[in-house]
Amino acid sequence: MTKYVYLFSEGNGNMRELLGGKGANLAEMTNLGLPVPQGFTITTEACMRYYADNENIAEDIQEQIFEYLEKMEAITGKKFGDKANPLLVSVRSGARASMPGMMDTILNLGLNDEVAESMVKLTNNPRFVYDSYRRFIQMFSDVVMELPKHKFEEIIDELKERKNVKLDTELDTDDMKELVARFKAFYLENKGEEFPSDPKVQLLEAVKAVFRSWNNPRAITYRRLNDIPSDWGTAVNVQSMVFGNMGDNSGTGVAFTRNPSTGEKKLYGEFLMNAQGEDVVAGIRTPNPISSLQDTQPEIYKQFTEIADKLEKHYRDMQDMEFTIENGKLYMLQTRNGKRTAQAALKIAVDLVAEGMCTKEEVILKVEPKQLDSLLHPQFDPEKLKKATPVAKGLPASPGAACGQIYFTAEDAVAAAAKGQKTLLVRLETSPEDIEGMVAAEGILTARGGMTSHAAVVARGMGKCCVAGCDALKVYEKYVEIGGHRVNEGEFVSIDGSTGNVYIGVIDTVEATVSGDFATFMGWVDEIRSLKVRANADTPRDAKQALVFGAEGIGLTRTEHMFFEADRIAAVREMIVSKNVEQRRRALNKILPMQRGDFEGIFRVMRGYPVTIRLLDPPLHEFLPQEKEDIEALAKEMGLTFDELNETVKSLHEFNPMMGHRGCRLAVSYPEIAEMQTRAIIEAAINVNKEPGPKVIPEIMVPLVGDKKELQFVKNIITKTADAIIAESGTDLKYMVGTMIEIPRAAINADEIAQEAEFFSFGTNDLTQMTFGFSRDDAGKFLGDYYQNKIYEFDPFAKFDTEGTGKLLAMAAKLGRSTRPDIKLGVCGEHGGDPSSVEFFHDQGLNYVSCSPFRVPIARLAAAQTQVKNPR
Ligand code: ADP
Ligand code: MG
Ligand code: MG
Repeated sequence: MTKYVYLFSEGNGNMRELLGGKGANLAEMTNLGLPVPQGFTITTEACMRYYADNENIAEDIQEQIFEYLEKMEAITGKKFGDKANPLLVSVRSGARASMPGMMDTILNLGLNDEVAESMVKLTNNPRFVYDSYRRFIQMFSDVVMELPKHKFEEIIDELKERKNVKLDTELDTDDMKELVARFKAFYLENKGEEFPSDPKVQLLEAVKAVFRSWNNPRAITYRRLNDIPSDWGTAVNVQSMVFGNMGDNSGTGVAFTRNPSTGEKKLYGEFLMNAQGEDVVAGIRTPNPISSLQDTQPEIYKQFTEIADKLEKHYRDMQDMEFTIENGKLYMLQTRNGKRTAQAALKIAVDLVAEGMCTKEEVILKVEPKQLDSLLHPQFDPEKLKKATPVAKGLPASPGAACGQIYFTAEDAVAAAAKGQKTLLVRLETSPEDIEGMVAAEGILTARGGMTSHAAVVARGMGKCCVAGCDALKVYEKYVEIGGHRVNEGEFVSIDGSTGNVYIGVIDTVEATVSGDFATFMGWVDEIRSLKVRANADTPRDAKQALVFGAEGIGLTRTEHMFFEADRIAAVREMIVSKNVEQRRRALNKILPMQRGDFEGIFRVMRGYPVTIRLLDPPLHEFLPQEKEDIEALAKEMGLTFDELNETVKSLHEFNPMMGHRGCRLAVSYPEIAEMQTRAIIEAAINVNKEPGPKVIPEIMVPLVGDKKELQFVKNIITKTADAIIAESGTDLKYMVGTMIEIPRAAINADEIAQEAEFFSFGTNDLTQMTFGFSRDDAGKFLGDYYQNKIYEFDPFAKFDTEGTGKLLAMAAKLGRSTRPDIKLGVCGEHGGDPSSVEFFHDQGLNYVSCSPFRVPIARLAAAQTQVKNPR
């Protein structure tokens, strides 16, 4: 028979999978001999059984629960529902990973009218008993029966007002009794039945509610965002109550062994006298700092600091603890590795090594890679932020904080920045023409657009703060209204891209630094990892940023981004509307020096590192205007009639541009484009290599290949062009030609393709898109339904789909190596900066991942963590 229930004394800290984090740690603390109110844990397997049995707790599990309840009664010497010496319990959820969004805890379960009366006799403290009772009804009704919590708060507020008091502690016994009566009446009225008075019914209902909460929408969303599988389930802890609300010799609190926001090695925490459970965090009363316990209860304080110390040494990490004092006796209710800010995480990691408590390998696992992000962008000065009130909220589209004078066009923002002003670009929405304004501004605020809008995507790529889709923002010509306040051009606004908050006026920011603990820690990361990390960068500026963040090369330069620049889009358009090869060559010749200059800039920054440059990829229509007025204007500029230009625009229209005339298909139709780009790359490399310093080895990458002959065709153009230029120059420039693997057919034929390709770079965005058969731009509309129905649990564009797309990748890697054993393998999709995806790429033996510069440190840490967990 499966064992579904464990006493705390039967478990231990390694049993998280079965007992959940809270349960495993309660067991571990029990084993350490700490004062833990005893109880039992119902396993995560019981939770999964509950779902397998159509949301029922099976007979055998119920039997085990009541069997263990008896054992608990024997241990505590109290009896559930008993009149002489009643046992009250808390019912606490606890998954393997701590999960906000799960069910709230229920305290004081086991109370009813009779039990309450007998407790009055036992404790001689009727106020305490009825305070506990009213809390129980309130929590049970809210958490188990889903009656709105605020209705209960309203009843309490009404009573307080009538009694003319402010605090719960000022209510007396009769008031508490009145609350119990009114809560029960409210329950009856809304549920159509009496509040359940049988403690066993209360217990089973509470357990079911915990199981149910595993699949509430909040929990499902949280799991998706944090890579937690839905088949883990949650455990339930049933623990005998200790009471912090017994009077002024009692209390409850939380504490950290080190400061969770700075990492300082000093006990940090808060407690409240005469209070229970969540009162400390609820903010009804202002708690006292833990240090003040030293004056009021020095014995307890001493005992607590000793326990804290013991726990930290035992877990070898900063602990977050909950405790309760009942009539002058200390109880420990929870411990876990404490959540901390990125800054604190790094300080603690470095300190733990210095203190000799942990190895470098161990502390590397203690820092959450995604957390590093917050250190790489400017932040608001925390003190200044406390005093500010947001006037509106948009989407937190790109993290960091920015403060600047607002301008409403890219031109104005550029002009103001040139005068030395800090600016914010505020627009209804942004488009490619706004790029220079976005570069010049400290941050971007838009009224429209979502998390994947132009503003959001481009800002994230630049590592620039952006708040998008701020509904409360109205943009006029020379002023804006934000949440009803008028702000004129040139006045200051502050935005927080991590929260979406918008503030009027100046809030000072503090710059990111990559020195100190950060540098020390990342040094260890680089010592340990074996997977290389490159960056995706299209400009020398991005490349410099990438180097600062520790990139070891460029894995993807998107040449088309250079085509949009204001000074060359005209030549690009001329190239597109050309009617014959000669015309097209003429236009390409105008672009050539600019492209060469771009590449020289990047090569100069990246001397000694590999740089992969991708040939033109997007369909050509993206470079032409689509609106009638814009077409008219452009026609005039180019000396064409509207009809002529409109004809070209129409002819380039594609039904499914992502699967249309793009990638290497462009080079098949217009070889002269690939020729020009190759010339620009090779000439740039030759020029830069003439200068002193390490040599550049360009890697020319052909996108969207699906067949060996296709690659051969384009490669031919590349090598013919390149070899001629090199021969003519009299130098011996080395260069490589490789391909992206982003079409399933390429993965399937990777052995053949590898005969022509010196490297593969997995374009996991397109590969995902093509493997699933859904487009990245439209998937958002229906993925929600897939999450709800648990068909897909993750957004495959954010977290690499190891089960499907991953098989293609693994196969392509294997096939590629079979015909070219030394083939270089990398990833250049967005997944290259996603920690759990990085783990998969490491396990597949890839050489490197490449991601946007701001994700480089994240990828470095993720790679090191994987190396520690699964060395290769
Ligand atoms: P959360 O995960 O939200 O912190 P917990 O299960 O830890 O939920 O409990 C919420 C609060 O109730 C905490 O302050 C905890 O210390 C307190 N609590 C839980 N169980 C008991 C108990 N048996 N006796 C006294 N207080 C308890
Ligand atoms: Mg809670
Ligand atoms: Mg807790």
